[in-house]
Amino acid sequence: MQALRNVIEDYKKQSRALGHFNISDSNQLEAIARASKETHLPTIVALSEGERAFFPISHAKALVDIYNEEGAQLYLSADHTYSVEKVAAAFHDGVDAVVVDGAQRLFDENVALVRQCVALGKTQNREVLVEGELGYIGTSSTVLPTLPEGVAVTEDMMTQPDRLNDFVLQTGIDLVAPSVGNVHGIVTSGQPKLAIDLIGRLAQMVDVPLVLHGGSGSSDEEFVQAIEAGVSIIHINTDIRLLYRNGLQDSIAQHPDVVAPYKFIEPVVETLKAYLAQKMHLFARE
Ligand SMILES: [Zn+2]
Repeated sequence: MQALRNVIEDYKKQSRALGHFNISDSNQLEAIARASKETHLPTIVALSEGERAFFPISHAKALVDIYNEEGAQLYLSADHTYSVEKVAAAFHDGVDAVVVDGAQRLFDENVALVRQCVALGKTQNREVLVEGELGYIGTSSTVLPTLPEGVAVTEDMMTQPDRLNDFVLQTGIDLVAPSVGNVHGIVTSGQPKLAIDLIGRLAQMVDVPLVLHGGSGSSDEEFVQAIEAGVSIIHINTDIRLLYRNGLQDSIAQHPDVVAPYKFIEPVVETLKAYLAQKMHLFARE
């Protein structure tokens, strides 16, 4: 299978983006694997610190290897990791990439944390990618009544191109996630709009691929604009969580006498697969 770095580089050159989809269990992983097999497209499966406390990376890795032998093209990412120790554990458990989240730290402290993780990555006996984040966009992948305090809504509060370039050069990261009007979670009082012009200027300024976090709640049209402006990876978590939870509720409500999990879970996996396949086609521009 092609190395993740090469897949991302090819996608960047072709103005396409990879989906980075979070899971909490093997049913959601099954849905992503079905979507990858059906579309013949590569995709990134992600587990945050909370998610991997329930569904360990090592378990996900074992299944990802099996799915890839069956024809899927899945890569594994340790999403939002806050310490060097947790990054080391994720490398040990077999991830292809790690998201080091120092976005709430001061610039120099963020750089120091990320640099340590980049150095650790270089000591692994296989290639691992390290992503850094600059600019706070919230931390909660849920439905939120209002925008979390501190998240940038005006362009002057968002990540500035020269600052992002300093961050990339000082850390040596492979991927970078800026604040561009995106927010983690879905904001019911009004989802902020993505700053497409700023994404374009950031992409011009830095050599490494740009990653868009907080994709949930954005429209397909916005995704296409962001990809055309220079985003190479798009994170979606909350929308997947909602589909899964609401799908299970509906499935159980529609078949109150069914007790076999493989019967009431199957339609939810198919619903998720259809959603993911649509996003994978959209992001890959095909
Ligand atoms: Zn994120």
